[in-house]
Amino acid sequence: MTFSPDGYISTRGDTAPTDFAEALLRGMAPDGGLYMPGAWPTLEPQAWAPGRGYSAMAVDAMSPFIGDALPAGALKRALDRLTAGFIPPEVTPLRRLEDDLYMLELFHGPTAAFKDLAMQLAAALASEALAASGENLTLVTATSGDTGAAAVAAFANTDRIRLIVLHPHERVSAVQRRQMTTVDADNVLNLAVRGDFDDCQRLVKGLLSDETLRAHGRFSSVNSINWARLAGQIPYYVSAVSQLAAMGESRAPVFVVPTGNFGDAFAGVAARKMGLPVAGFVAAVNRNDALARAINHGLYARKAAVETASVSMDVQAPSNFERLVFEASRRDAAATAALFQTFAAEGSVTMPPAFLAAIRAEVSAVSVDEPTTRDQIGHAHAAWGQVVCPHTAVALSAARGVDRSLGPVIALSTAHPAKFGKDVAPVLGFDPDPPKVIRDLGDRAERFEVIDADADAALAAVRGFGG
Ligand SMILES: *Cc1c(COP(=O)(O)O)cnc(C)c1O
Repeated sequence: MTFSPDGYISTRGDTAPTDFAEALLRGMAPDGGLYMPGAWPTLEPQAWAPGRGYSAMAVDAMSPFIGDALPAGALKRALDRLTAGFIPPEVTPLRRLEDDLYMLELFHGPTAAFKDLAMQLAAALASEALAASGENLTLVTATSGDTGAAAVAAFANTDRIRLIVLHPHERVSAVQRRQMTTVDADNVLNLAVRGDFDDCQRLVKGLLSDETLRAHGRFSSVNSINWARLAGQIPYYVSAVSQLAAMGESRAPVFVVPTGNFGDAFAGVAARKMGLPVAGFVAAVNRNDALARAINHGLYARKAAVETASVSMDVQAPSNFERLVFEASRRDAAATAALFQTFAAEGSVTMPPAFLAAIRAEVSAVSVDEPTTRDQIGHAHAAWGQVVCPHTAVALSAARGVDRSLGPVIALSTAHPAKFGKDVAPVLGFDPDPPKVIRDLGDRAERFEVIDADADAALAAVRGFGG
């Protein structure tokens, strides 16, 4: 179970190879690139045999990435904790909607959105890595809702880790706010910033670059570029193929993934590189379509983000696109670095034709507008009796456009509709029934501090946080 000697390398090529624990605790590579495994491990076909349990599949899919970088049994303990927090025995059940169309439900965890799957594992594995090294870690993250909730649920009361979450004051839903603020944990600090999400991100950047805060130990972020989070999303692709097999379907599926930062989708690409039978991927984006424009027209260009109902996908420069480009370039780090440096400096870059061809062989992309998303919420209820969230509706709409003559199509369902009742209720005429994890939020006391969108205010709040 030792990992390849290449360890983790950076997409920008200017970082010494490191192991899983270091890639996990650092998040981003020091040269500004993203960590990638030095080589893809191989999954044997018995990994997705019908009837296998989630944990067994996750051990097969993830242990090659960890090698001996964590204490023995760390992954198994992390998976025990993960599966205990999910309600169905399958963890991520596959639901058949109609002939050759399925939905993979990823929202049965503690905060009712798919980010729980990776975040729960990342928290448990980080805690194991820190226990082994004797270090402490402060994590800071900006959130528009789902990431912060999943992070708080995962990291609350975790040894050796403090978590600081900045959300825009009065601009997240009441459910999302209460998921973050009602957790009784001294190691979590919630800051409500009088400003918008971009202000939160700016303050996080400032905190991450402040050397005086590092006296406590490591200081890092908990966003979707972390390799450990990607690795934690590979098992449900394996599980989907296993569940298809259990339904008597052996043809390779097309996965349709509702996409923001391309983290969820890239985990699927990784699973395919490891040998999982997949016919292709469709990245379904909302009107924030930089990824679709890059793949379909060859120009990767920034545009101002617009607000949509699938708010967790309101992303204009998808961070994990860099991993896809790195693979498409046949791991040419110099070419990858040049492309993203041009993009950062000029706001746009033309995709080299060879990269584009390699990307298109793996992933196609579809942008779904707001009226179509609403229509799809209605169709899912009328045709299949399913109440779905707007992110899932974007995926289902794209999935219905995929040619099913060659095999089954699986749309990923990323959040429980009750988290997005304000967008779902006007279409269906009723509020989605909340799951137990949302009902249980009840009227527990909330803990958060309101601050101005100002670097000094953020610094003062963090300094005052004992945690
Ligand atoms: C984060 C999120 C997405 C997008 O996932 P990426 O990995 O950023 O592509 C989709 N749906 C929901 C509900 C999310 O929270």
